[in-house]
Amino acid sequence: MNPPPPAASTPKAAFRLTKIIFTLGPSTQDEAMLEKLILAGVDVCRLNMAHADEAWTRTMIRRVREVCRRTQRHIALLMDVKGPEIRTGDLAEPVDLVAGQLIDLMPGPGEPEDGVFAVGVNYPLMGGDVRAGTVVLVDSGLIRLEVQSTSPSRVRCRVVVPAKLHSRRHINLPGVKVRLPALTPKDRADIEVGVEEQVDFFALSFVREADDIDILRRLLSDLKSSARIVAKVEDQSGITNLDEIIVASDAVMIARGDLGIEVPMETLPLFQKMAVEACIRHRKPVIVATHLLESMITSPVPTRAEVSDIASAVWSTADAIMLSGETATGLYPLECVQFMKRVAGRVEESEPKGYNTALPLKNNKDRLLRSAVVLAQELGDSGIVVFTRNGFLPQSLAALRAKRCPIYAFTDEPQVFRHMLLMWGVEPFLMPFAADPEEVICAAFAYLLRRNWVRQGDWMVVVTNVLAGKKTIDTIQMRPVE
Ligand code: PEP
Repeated sequence: MNPPPPAASTPKAAFRLTKIIFTLGPSTQDEAMLEKLILAGVDVCRLNMAHADEAWTRTMIRRVREVCRRTQRHIALLMDVKGPEIRTGDLAEPVDLVAGQLIDLMPGPGEPEDGVFAVGVNYPLMGGDVRAGTVVLVDSGLIRLEVQSTSPSRVRCRVVVPAKLHSRRHINLPGVKVRLPALTPKDRADIEVGVEEQVDFFALSFVREADDIDILRRLLSDLKSSARIVAKVEDQSGITNLDEIIVASDAVMIARGDLGIEVPMETLPLFQKMAVEACIRHRKPVIVATHLLESMITSPVPTRAEVSDIASAVWSTADAIMLSGETATGLYPLECVQFMKRVAGRVEESEPKGYNTALPLKNNKDRLLRSAVVLAQELGDSGIVVFTRNGFLPQSLAALRAKRCPIYAFTDEPQVFRHMLLMWGVEPFLMPFAADPEEVICAAFAYLLRRNWVRQGDWMVVVTNVLAGKKTIDTIQMRPVE
């Protein structure tokens, strides 16, 4: 049987090992721009629920899917739920803070006492969580306060670094274990919408421990969703409990925006390196997020430092690099994607062959996969063809990080196809599976040929089952495309 043309991602010329995520927003939400980004090669679209309501979310998800259908290039959808967040309350007008002045933070509306200016916060337990000397950062760290004294109803601080305080600004309490639920009522409502619209990934903000992931996992299971969970590591608890978080989740995002506020800035590159390595060891996709091209929010070209930052994420073999404000509200969203592609492509092509020899192999199937990688790299301009119903085999192959060796992963499950769009070096294809494994291999080769991914006579390594009497046996085969 010749299958109907499967949905493909990129043509071979544009094959990239590192995936690109963009954040949807006012700069990118119209159909024409979406079409340009999708054709330019983005792999995943992120919806930042901090700035989204239900109507916008549904409209956007359907619009992205429609553009994918029209362009015949399919991307995945990631819903980034806001998670617990401490914010200042409303102010009648912005207030200019002055270094050395006192300011009270208090649950409910701010009521001045002893002539000290007061502002409300949405976290009633704050007085019990902080103590004299605790640092309080407001508005992405722009304002720095230091706690002087606390009571259940009032936290008195001194302004260390002043700026203008606006309404509803985000508060970070570096190193403080806050007692907020992993999911707020808005998060739960957003997740229900995401499940109904069949998004592929949910990213959970401020994951502090594995239990946070388990709560979301149970909710998704109750809602009968098979979406995958991305843990956003963005504070010190997330770093301390990194291993258990990686094990409990399906992927990790190193959310450098908040992480850079919550930990001393100079430690950020160390945590990034450590987190990427830990995720690869656990075979979980890892995303490096935020400020990769920050200057391009207003400038058509990146800084030299940004180019190097992208290159360093690519060298570390992170699965994906993510654009946030650059594509949500920036002036040059398409140029950002094009720059990322160029830098990633140039770095990848400069890399010699080789693979991750440090990956712990747990069983014989792992050894089989390693053999597939070694063979494919010895065969020259080859690749690995693999078939999967849940995506885990390509995920293990990806963890071997075989340079210059595409993993062509075929599945008959649409959502698994989209889950694989986040995996390093994996090029996914959607195709119906026949009962006979040989028929499936021939159909996959025919597809790869038709779309110019391979040439007649190229040698490929195929990871597949074969029937031996009543048994199915895992095999790897070396065979020419014909
Ligand atoms: C970040 O902090 O880097 C991040 C991606 O999270 P958010 O945009 O939700 O703050």
